[in-house]
Amino acid sequence: MTTAAPLRLFNSLTRQLEPFQPVHPGEARVYSCGPTVYNYPHIGNMRAYVFADVLGRTLSFKGYKLTHVINITDVGHLTDDADAGEDKMEKMAAERAQSIWDIARHYTEAYWADVKALNIRQPAKWTIATEYVPAMIDFAKSIADKHCYELDSGLYFDVSTVADYGRLARAQTEDGEGRIEAVEGKRNAADFAIWRKTPPGEKRQMEWDSPWGRGAPGWHLECSVMSGEVLGFPFDIHTGGIDHREIHHPNEIAQNQAFCCTNGLDKAANSGANVWMHNNFLVERSGKMSKSSGEFLRLQLLIDKGYHPLAYRMLCLQAHYRSELEFSWEGLGAALVRLKRIVWMTERWNSDSELQDATVRAEVGDLSGISPDQTKLLAQFDAAISNDLKTPEALTAFEQAIGLKGKGASWAIDALTLALYMDQVLGFGLDKLTRKDLRLRPKAATITEDEIEAVLTRRKEARAAKDFATSDALRDELAARGVEVMDGDPLGWDWKLG
Ligand code: AMP
Ligand code: ZN
Repeated sequence: MTTAAPLRLFNSLTRQLEPFQPVHPGEARVYSCGPTVYNYPHIGNMRAYVFADVLGRTLSFKGYKLTHVINITDVGHLTDDADAGEDKMEKMAAERAQSIWDIARHYTEAYWADVKALNIRQPAKWTIATEYVPAMIDFAKSIADKHCYELDSGLYFDVSTVADYGRLARAQTEDGEGRIEAVEGKRNAADFAIWRKTPPGEKRQMEWDSPWGRGAPGWHLECSVMSGEVLGFPFDIHTGGIDHREIHHPNEIAQNQAFCCTNGLDKAANSGANVWMHNNFLVERSGKMSKSSGEFLRLQLLIDKGYHPLAYRMLCLQAHYRSELEFSWEGLGAALVRLKRIVWMTERWNSDSELQDATVRAEVGDLSGISPDQTKLLAQFDAAISNDLKTPEALTAFEQAIGLKGKGASWAIDALTLALYMDQVLGFGLDKLTRKDLRLRPKAATITEDEIEAVLTRRKEARAAKDFATSDALRDELAARGVEVMDGDPLGWDWKLG
């Protein structure tokens, strides 16, 4: 077996690497906390989904039948992670004087466009929070008597009613980071709303009737309900960004314990999922990435500046998901060159018939033709990805494998089969991606590709006629319009738009 390395994942709950042991033999059920769709996602948010995608692809690569669920939070997430603040969606709708439903639709579609551009595979199901409100009310009803209490502002979860509250965050109940919230009448500082009543005299765009009055569900309740409904408790893996390790996920865990009537967290499965995984943050040199201050780093901004979105995927894969990653335009440029180099290697082998043959063979894992050196590098790749998704090492093994020289009639097909096989994990879509695709025109550019090519043709003719003065003048003409001419570029790009 070429993918025989045992899969080990870092479980935030135990803070340890653990062998992956599926709840249902041969299956992997994964839930990822999805975006709050009150604005465009920034590229930091998208790092969370590239990570979840690599996890899902790795589970498929290792032979598990994957069921992945990602939710869309279209109600309930407050501007403050504790219970103060407004609903992010309501706030944006009021600012824009627009319907919340229109806002939710617009930003969900924008998020899905980013998902597609980054080659993030579609999950088995997108769960939309507002479609699960009746199930949320049922869930809350079932735990209300034993674990909740009502205040004027809503139904609150009493965290002292479950054992080990906050273990995931390694926080004490009473003084967890930033947890003390002045909602009058709360029994414990860390108690949180699972149902928020609409204040008397107010009307929210999104509100529902419940045994605790008209109102809206709490954000933590949503994820407990959607994950449990679709995947069944306990499921295998729950993912999110590292910020969720502190409040959102401990609160989900407390609700899951209450709902499943389980005791302390001596067994991870009592938390609702066996493994809790968290990606670290993408940061800017100036600090935290934000949608409101400085340059709003959306994927579209990268594209507008001429960077192919998969260069951002490469940037993510170059770092381990548990390390902080600093964003810089230089780093993104280097990631693009690295991807271009890979595509230049794989493109050489892609004649139509070879591609078809290799695609089929990669899909079924038929690697019968590969050499001992290739086999060794595949084993290295597998060991790296199986060791808590060590994508930086996996990328290196991949590049070494596609860089091997070989001979013989079937070499190209075998090499391409291996590249596409590994690409099932990396997710660059190398069966389709060409160097030409990677060259995007910056939005601000005033010159078209055809115009550039026309000048370059004239320049080639001048050079052929040894008319170097004209050739230099044409180069300067292009430079003045933002085009850098790259004679003899080893990767075959003879110009670049800056
Ligand atoms: P939100 O839309 O705010 O609920 O966030 C969506 C996902 O992005 C969550 O899993 C967050 O934990 C994650 N996230 C937020 N900011 C960053 C960041 N700068 N880097 C990586 N992940 C992030
Ligand atoms: Zn969540």
